[in-house]
Amino acid sequence: MNKLIAGNWKMNGSLAANEALVRAVLTGLGNASCRVAVCVPAPYLAQVQALAAGSPLALGAQDVSEQERGAFTGEVSAAMLKEFGTRYVIVGHSERRHLHGENDTLVADKAKAALAHGLTPIVCVGETLAEREAGHTEAVVKRQLAAVIHTNGHCISEIVVAYEPVWAIGTGKTATPEQAQQVHAVLRAQIKAASTHPERVAILYGGSMNAGNAASLLGQPDIDGGLIGGASLKAPDFLQIIAAAHSRGG
Ligand code: PEP
Repeated sequence: MNKLIAGNWKMNGSLAANEALVRAVLTGLGNASCRVAVCVPAPYLAQVQALAAGSPLALGAQDVSEQERGAFTGEVSAAMLKEFGTRYVIVGHSERRHLHGENDTLVADKAKAALAHGLTPIVCVGETLAEREAGHTEAVVKRQLAAVIHTNGHCISEIVVAYEPVWAIGTGKTATPEQAQQVHAVLRAQIKAASTHPERVAILYGGSMNAGNAASLLGQPDIDGGLIGGASLKAPDFLQIIAAAHSRGG
């Protein structure tokens, strides 16, 4: 499977900054063999769709409603995302879980809504520092993924999983390649047991991945790509991560 490098812009950007960033990424992409996506704030989907039209750069969103339509002020439906050519949508990012109180059931329902509209949910799982220190890492990520498996049944083969230790997101602290690989192997086994096509499911690492550490993380056998926050806002850094994925066989 080709590696997937997905940028998560979070709540950053402006029309001018997005244009400069996307143009620089497109110029530098060359013939990269990996899959590349940017998950942008919803108001910029149309802009980035137009900028990336006809290019290999895929469009992603950062959240989706679990509801189909109706009186849900502020929410954005999967059908709406689809209308703008969105391919991926992040669900269950730790910032949504921790700052917006999203629980495992809601995250699983969001993944279901995305799948129902042909979007690929990037399902984030990961432990807090306290959970890691208490020795609960495996139990936490397995519980989070189990909820998505339970709700989505055989469709589980169509998701992407992102292992994002909460203590590594935006902190500059990265899991070592060995720490990340250990958790990825657990998630891989869980996907294998639940999926009819486990080979389709990419498991990304996220958490302060950058130009300097990408190659060693992406070199691990069960790390199929990266979900990149801060470093995806700087074209040269994002392109170096893409190059690292390319040199690891795409
Ligand atoms: C993220 O937001 O998914 C993320 C991994 O952020 P950062 O790369 O900045 O740690």
